[in-house]
Amino acid sequence: MSDKPLLQVQDLTAHHGAVRALDRVTLDVPERGLYAVLGANGAGKSTLLRTLTGLHPATSGRVTLDGEDITHLPAERAVTKGLAHVPEGGGVIVELTVEENLRLGGIWRGRHDPDTMAEVLDLFPPLEQRRGKPAGTLSGGERQMLAIGRALMARPRVLLLDEPSLGLAPMITEQIFTLLGDLRDRTWLTVVLVEQNAAGALSTTDHGFVLDQGRLAAEGASDDLLSDDRTRHAYLGF
Ligand code: ATP
Repeated sequence: MSDKPLLQVQDLTAHHGAVRALDRVTLDVPERGLYAVLGANGAGKSTLLRTLTGLHPATSGRVTLDGEDITHLPAERAVTKGLAHVPEGGGVIVELTVEENLRLGGIWRGRHDPDTMAEVLDLFPPLEQRRGKPAGTLSGGERQMLAIGRALMARPRVLLLDEPSLGLAPMITEQIFTLLGDLRDRTWLTVVLVEQNAAGALSTTDHGFVLDQGRLAAEGASDDLLSDDRTRHAYLGF
């Protein structure tokens, strides 16, 4: 590995029609650790994640992964380079079993990989217990675990999660955040999560990036952002 950050975003701009959803965003994500992208509704969080993973086109700017320019790679190439995206709501296929959903996540690697499947099931015991059951029978928290497990099947270097707590009860949200902390501690991964639940996310993550109207308004150690009244009141709503 080079000394450079794993993921580098330089002057990234993206539009939805006439709306400038990202406005010259520059940030570095070092290897390993848990990072939060925060901000109000419409701040550009989802657009940032989707632009990083090739699901939305960049208007200008640059994204590099371990020094390699990936700015204009389509999503299916970005995943083979090591970026996995878990969309809002998880996007699991409810008619397929837990195991079939997991196998789909590994499809990018070209062959079934029982070792990675075993690792993922070991990380998420509820999925192991329900591996033959349709995903539609899982609870909300288990579906989110399945969505994360499916992304891990691609053996990504960076896991990008869009609102993993959305629609989950507070206790389940806490479990998902704890699980992401365990992932950071137990694996090779860099995890970037977009969250509306800023207080919960900052209590879990190492570092936060705050977007406001498409711009990077603040960033810092999560503990520092949590105790920074000005940033909390201005951008995070608590
Ligand atoms: P939320 O938490 O509400 O999802 P966000 O911070 O993820 O918000 P984005 O969804 O990235 O923000 O939206 C950024 C801006 O782009 C907003 O002004 C939004 O209205 C606009 N936008 C997002 N998606 C579209 C779309 N499909 N068509 C038009 N405008 C869009």
